[in-house]
Amino acid sequence: SYKEIATPSRTKEILEKHGFSFKKSLGQNFLTDPNILKKIVAAAGIDSHVNVIEIGPGIGALTEQLAKQANQVLAFEIDQRLLPVLADTLSPYDNVTVVHQDILKADVNAEAQRVFASDLPVKVVANLPYYITTPIILHLLSSPLPIQEMVIMMQREVAERISAKPGSKAYGSLSIAVQYAMAASVAFIVPKTAFVPQPNVDSAIMKLTRRTKPAVDVHNEAAFFRLTRAAFKQRRKTLWNNLLNEYGKDEQTRARLAAALEKAGIDPKRRGESLSLPEFAELANAMADK
Ligand code: SAM
Repeated sequence: SYKEIATPSRTKEILEKHGFSFKKSLGQNFLTDPNILKKIVAAAGIDSHVNVIEIGPGIGALTEQLAKQANQVLAFEIDQRLLPVLADTLSPYDNVTVVHQDILKADVNAEAQRVFASDLPVKVVANLPYYITTPIILHLLSSPLPIQEMVIMMQREVAERISAKPGSKAYGSLSIAVQYAMAASVAFIVPKTAFVPQPNVDSAIMKLTRRTKPAVDVHNEAAFFRLTRAAFKQRRKTLWNNLLNEYGKDEQTRARLAAALEKAGIDPKRRGESLSLPEFAELANAMADK
């Protein structure tokens, strides 16, 4: 009789059949709760008019649920040992392509062009390997592929940093990098008991939806992101000190920075964590004007 991959008994069978042992260093915590997987797929709004990219399919628990709803699924898996397992567990589905690649080294846009037969909206749905959550998100955001939505499982603490508002402890350059392009919200919290082995941290499903245009107007994106990273480099220091550390302490630079702060109406004694996205944009644009 047919049993979904994610059921605890089928997962156990698959792991035993293939003699698979978990690698902690690869963030291997597999979901063994079909209901949670279905909630993830529902939150992502996956149907036959959507192509999906998955990162880290594991033994295919989420992949299977995606394959049942999506047009096509493209999955990136770094662990060579999982390739024969996936070939076995996903054999009933003809709309899944697994590529053996490190997602951080993958040209996601080129792979999507190669694999997807039709030009449909692309969404990312994944239970991320937690040791590289932030690099993966930044890698995907910097890809020319116009990812419409990401519904991704991550450590709760990172989800809080991504959706943080100015003035909070969790607010930082990651919040800004993501919120610039995407509207961010936490969809739901997932208990540790939904995984084997159980992770040490709480998990959250985060939903990132691409904005029709960036949250703020900036003349130069690279300069804007450089400024936001600089402003948080030493969180306890003033904006002014962080700016001097980044751009230089010479008289000419001091004068240029002071003029830009004045033009943007920002007190140099404030801390980076108090500045909103529009304020950072004002300041970056004022610095570029000079
Ligand atoms: N999707 C499965 C699930 O939900 O049960 C497994 C999720 S598990 C948290 C993370 C997966 O990412 C593992 O299969 C791991 O081997 C894979 N992985 C780790 N680092 C990776 C990388 N750099 N590129 C691609 N996959 C990676």
